[in-house]
Amino acid sequence: MPRRLFIFLFCFFPILVQAVEPDWNKIEEELIDLLQKLIQVDTQNPPGNELAACRVLDKFFRKNGISSKIYRVDDQRANLLARLKGDGSQKAILLAAHTDVVPANGDKWSVDPFSGEVLDGYIYGRGAIDDKGMLAVHAMTLVLLKRQNVPLRRDVIFLATAGEESGGSPGIKWMLERHRPKLEAAFALNEGGRIIYRNGKPLYIALQTEEKQAYNINLTATGTTGHSSIPRLDNAIVSMAKALERLERRPMQQSLDAVTTAFFQEINRVDTAVVWTDNQVLTTDPLYLAILSNTIAPTIISGGIKSNVHPPSVELNLNCRLLPSQDVDEFVDSLRTWISPGPYSFDYRKRNPAPAPSPQDGLGYILIEQVCNELYPGTPVLPYLSPGMSDGTSLRHEGIPTYGLLPFPLDEEEVWRQHGVDERLSLESLMMGMKLVHRLVKLAGI
Ligand SMILES: [Zn+2]
Repeated sequence: MPRRLFIFLFCFFPILVQAVEPDWNKIEEELIDLLQKLIQVDTQNPPGNELAACRVLDKFFRKNGISSKIYRVDDQRANLLARLKGDGSQKAILLAAHTDVVPANGDKWSVDPFSGEVLDGYIYGRGAIDDKGMLAVHAMTLVLLKRQNVPLRRDVIFLATAGEESGGSPGIKWMLERHRPKLEAAFALNEGGRIIYRNGKPLYIALQTEEKQAYNINLTATGTTGHSSIPRLDNAIVSMAKALERLERRPMQQSLDAVTTAFFQEINRVDTAVVWTDNQVLTTDPLYLAILSNTIAPTIISGGIKSNVHPPSVELNLNCRLLPSQDVDEFVDSLRTWISPGPYSFDYRKRNPAPAPSPQDGLGYILIEQVCNELYPGTPVLPYLSPGMSDGTSLRHEGIPTYGLLPFPLDEEEVWRQHGVDERLSLESLMMGMKLVHRLVKLAGI
């Protein structure tokens, strides 16, 4: 080959490669196929059975020439890591998503929740939004970068975790305990934030930098047992009903930190559901209320042993979401005081305090904001405290700046399908998410 031609190709070929846009129509087909395969694997947690989903991902990576490794926790549960190598001159980026899903009651769905059926431009299935859509997009991002031969300064790490829906013990926590060095990264992209649409237009982008902390607090009411033919005033079910009624009437105190202050000051400008005045938020919107204070949701009640016996005790699970600055012991003390006097006891497991928020001037935040500005010009990108908790808390505890952004634009009605009936993701939204993550990783990596 003439030397001048060689120099020309050597110098310009990478640029030409980078400038070529992927064939998004073809990628859409591959992406739908991968997402369907992931949805069709039943990973309802409990029990999880995430090993089967890891096998789907492993096969996909191998078919596309990317090495991946399954980390088995036991016969049914596993995590998976794949890595696209860069030149090592910069720290890696980590793409994290979980393989388990919450249970789906198929009777109420209009399609089989594990079919991955495409209807009227939507892919249906448990996990389409949470979090198999993100898994599929992350996996496809590595494959695209490899196919395009994009020269990377950083490794791109793909992580699929088990057990996120029950606190991450066999998943992110297991991986961090045993394989922490393999997850070292300049920043991580994970679920948690939102691209919110209203009336067909983007309203705001909530980029999660911190999370409320989830606690299951068990409240027990006890009573004198005996024959129910003689009613008793200290019946445990009646006592529990009184406690619950008191809990529902407890005062809700707003508490704003730097993240939520920045969020509400800006939301005030774009959403009429919020009024910001004198550093206080006036709103009746359930999401915004959840961000502003500690919350309690009763989720499971159990008690009683026979229809003609006063129950010795009744138990109620209170799913509590605490603000990052809230100490759990102080919170439970306040509940105890509020419902007293009565035959009540609380049981809960204390954990480490919440980690510090991921910085708003960090590389991850800056790059995600830049890509969002390109794809959604004029839409504000806001730091966000998510009411839900994810693997992000464990990653932040380990000092990995983690940014939560479900990359799919969703209108508010669609968001409620997550963990609900007829969970689905529009194909248009899926592809918007694909382009966002691909653009972000390419921008960060080259
Ligand atoms: Zn999730």
